[in-house]
Amino acid sequence: MSKKQFKAESKRLLDLMINSIYTNKEIFLREIISNASDAIDKLCYLSLTDDSVGLNRDDFRIDILVNKDERTITVRDNGIGMTLEEAESNLGVIAKSGSFQFKGEMESAKAEDLSIIGQFGVGFYSAFMVADQVTVRSRKFGEEKGVEWKSAGADGYTVTPVEKETVGTDVIMHLKADTEEEIFGSYLEVWKLKALIKKYSDYVRWPIKMDVQHQERFETGEKNDDGSPKYEYRMVTENETINSMVPIWQRSKSEVTDDDCIQWYKEKNRDRKDPCALVRVNAEGAVSYKAMLFVPGEQNENVFSGDNKGGVTLYSNGVMIMEKCDKLLHDYFDFVKGVVDSPDLSLNISREILQHDRQLRIIGQNLEKRIKGELEKLLKEDRPKYQEFFKNFGADLKVGICDEYGRYKDFLRDLLIFYTSEDRQVTLKEYVEAMPESQKVIYYATAASVKQAMSLPQCEQVRNRGFELIYLTSPLDEMVLENLRDQDGKSFCNVVTDDLGFETEEEKKAAEERDIENKELLDFVKEAVGGDLSKVRLSRKLSTQACCLTSEGPLTLEMERYFRHGPSEEMRKVRATRVLELNPEHRAMQALKEAFETDKEKAKKLSRILYVLAEMTAGMDVEDPAEFAAQVAELF
Ligand code: ADP
Repeated sequence: MSKKQFKAESKRLLDLMINSIYTNKEIFLREIISNASDAIDKLCYLSLTDDSVGLNRDDFRIDILVNKDERTITVRDNGIGMTLEEAESNLGVIAKSGSFQFKGEMESAKAEDLSIIGQFGVGFYSAFMVADQVTVRSRKFGEEKGVEWKSAGADGYTVTPVEKETVGTDVIMHLKADTEEEIFGSYLEVWKLKALIKKYSDYVRWPIKMDVQHQERFETGEKNDDGSPKYEYRMVTENETINSMVPIWQRSKSEVTDDDCIQWYKEKNRDRKDPCALVRVNAEGAVSYKAMLFVPGEQNENVFSGDNKGGVTLYSNGVMIMEKCDKLLHDYFDFVKGVVDSPDLSLNISREILQHDRQLRIIGQNLEKRIKGELEKLLKEDRPKYQEFFKNFGADLKVGICDEYGRYKDFLRDLLIFYTSEDRQVTLKEYVEAMPESQKVIYYATAASVKQAMSLPQCEQVRNRGFELIYLTSPLDEMVLENLRDQDGKSFCNVVTDDLGFETEEEKKAAEERDIENKELLDFVKEAVGGDLSKVRLSRKLSTQACCLTSEGPLTLEMERYFRHGPSEEMRKVRATRVLELNPEHRAMQALKEAFETDKEKAKKLSRILYVLAEMTAGMDVEDPAEFAAQVAELF
């Protein structure tokens, strides 16, 4: 039978594993047991809807078999199993992106912390840290035949169809020979295996069984001189369940610390960072349930496994009834991961029923309050950490504000934070609390980045008056403000489009008169620029800059920019009603006026240049940069 080669990357990873100097090699057992447990989860789940599985919940088990003569440890499960193709693609190819990253880290970190191996989806390979040959014999549920996958390490593997009586998987690890540094044979000791199972796999929900020998006293039937029964001792072998099996979320806070939960979460979800919030609930009452929820410390689009989205797994009395249920919590808390276990949930729950399930709705509501509470606590007590959270998941909250016509806005508003001109990130409540009495509205500016917003000419006046500005950096932000309408009675003022409210009545009147006086010139500029420009007026907001671009009506420049990169042709054509504002005090305006009197051609050119300058400061794309450059060069 021909040997198949591992792909080059897999081979190198295996090499690393085989030659690993990592001292904590014992974690291999945890990895292999976790795979077995996952495989059982899958078949158990299937058995809820498919009678042909023929197994009850109590029938599922993981067996650890030791053969000292052959130097093997076998981890046997009666889970879902693998087909030949699956064995080949799951075990033969390290195709997952995470594995390459893992290899890189392992090389650079000099294998200091291999405990994270499971987080990269390459846990199976850890067997090669202790074994020089690994044989996997498996039969998938629903298949007649089994498969044998065998490898002695980096030089390749074989896969062969075999007869296998039962569904499930055996992973048989032949231990390496002992060396001076490492006694691999110690893994054949039952006490050692027992300790490892207790240490790493105690919470696995399925029984991990092993033959354990112990001494038993028995009556020989004979009597001592004083008439008492005579005893002798003999060794008996008993098949014991080693793990306590009580899932971690079923345990009380006095038994399991938050740190234990975090550790469990990281292993289970392959998250490398600690979660930024943890919610543990043990509710008794109208609806009883236990819940353990986590707000991840990093984005859900986990680069390693791809399927590592948020979502809560539902259990009823320890039986998993739905994986990653996304209907328990609203979409704005999509990032939350964890488990909810309630005896009140019906076992045959389906996604459709789920939405109407009253129990579930009550649980969901309560949990949302708890999650919000934890986030508020974080916001108050650890702002940098909250900012990190918001960077990762703030968009979900913002979308939540806009969802269903703002139905959840008041539940979520205090969780939003915004960058401001004071170089801080604040909630709207905090912003309003810090407002001086003379400030009547909440000022904001929108641009592609904070830096760009900071340099918007329209912001100058507001900052000069000592007022703080909120910088919005996505069109979503604008929609959020629109949905929020106000904060504690203070409305929002877009510094680009709205009246800043700084002018006195006289100033307003003077400005209007000035507009009328200059009408001819302003019309001329509009004509000269043409295209998308709708209006030209003298600015009341600029102080040092020559001109700026603004918009009228509900569609802002920011939204236009957003739509320009939209998916449909129609979207990309959307334009804001553009208004060019000229600073009457600026010398550019004087030059324009002079040209308008004496040289109309030059005035036309200057008009176009000013327009492009305004477009550029507003962060808009310039349609024809080459033409613009030529026009500017001509001025010399
Ligand atoms: P991970 O478990 O993180 O995906 P592994 O390298 O540990 O990565 O395992 C690779 C894949 O092999 C698993 O995802 C699973 O599909 C399959 N596998 C491993 N062990 C078993 C098992 N005991 N039963 C069924 N499938 C298994």
